Amino acid sequence: MHEFSFAYNIFKVAEATAIKHNAKKITEVHLEIGELTLIVPELLKRSFEMATSGSIAEGAELIIEQLPGTIKCRDCGKSSSVTLSEEAHLTGLQLFQCKHCQSKNTEIIDGKKANIKNIKIQE
Ligand SMILES: [Zn+2]
Repeated sequence: MHEFSFAYNIFKVAEATAIKHNAKKITEVHLEIGELTLIVPELLKRSFEMATSGSIAEGAELIIEQLPGTIKCRDCGKSSSVTLSEEAHLTGLQLFQCKHCQSKNTEIIDGKKANIKNIKIQE
């Protein structure tokens, strides 16, 4: 389960930050997730609840901000923003077409990253 291991990693980072600041509780975790990571926000929220149950992050609100994907065309050199199709969600295959020249000779330059933007703690 992709989302659960990811949620667990977020929790470990948040926990380490809280311990470093002698916090008693984590109240909010703000995440940025690229559209092309294939992470489903609803599943991630549920996984985060499970991963933090009984910990100092129990009940913390997970705020997820999704960032659009960007591809660059190897033929015309222009960038396009893309979203995942249903098909890509099902197959995990990510092939994107340039919006300027319709070429499929493209590479993903953004949208595959996920990072913690901000953590709110209570001291
Ligand atoms: Zn192109």
